[in-house]
Amino acid sequence: MICYISLGSNLDQPELQLRTALERLKTDEQLELLKVSSLYRSKALILPGSVVQGDYINAVAQLETKLSAKMLLLKLHEIEVAQGRKRKEKWGARTLDLDILLYANEHIQTSRLTIPHKQIKRRNFVIHPLYEIAGAIEIPGIGCLSDLAEKTSWDGLEKKSSEL
Ligand code: ADP
Ligand code: MG
Repeated sequence: MICYISLGSNLDQPELQLRTALERLKTDEQLELLKVSSLYRSKALILPGSVVQGDYINAVAQLETKLSAKMLLLKLHEIEVAQGRKRKEKWGARTLDLDILLYANEHIQTSRLTIPHKQIKRRNFVIHPLYEIAGAIEIPGIGCLSDLAEKTSWDGLEKKSSEL
């Protein structure tokens, strides 16, 4: 299955966190890392009651895997934990967040997993990196990614570097 995942970090050397996570994905025997976007810098979302946080580094990767979406999520959680993530406050700062954006063309809705990812439409730091590597794909239930990218602002988002 072809899938897309998002990577994000705003703690403990975010850029290094992403590079380390990508190295883990690359060397995993059950995954094939096919494409990686540039790194992007984004301002942390300011939510009511949340503390001010540092900027995030974000990227999107395309993977090929035979793992089910559920097993892929477990693997991503293992990588988050290996890199020191503790799940505390829901929207708090984090060393590493790995989410599944798309899993082939599937719609998945379980207590643990919503695919396509619930927030895709609202997050410019997902849409623009995804568009960079996936181009004009169709997102199940949402529509054409190029239309979405065209409509989505770059507010608080900046492409950082292309070399990875
Ligand atoms: P965030 O919403 O900021 O990514 P977490 O990384 O703590 O927060 O994830 C909370 C829960 O979201 C996970 O335990 C997972 O079960 C659930 N979840 C639902 N859909 C997805 C998805 N597509 N990718 C990753 N996690 C998901
Ligand atoms: Mg997550």
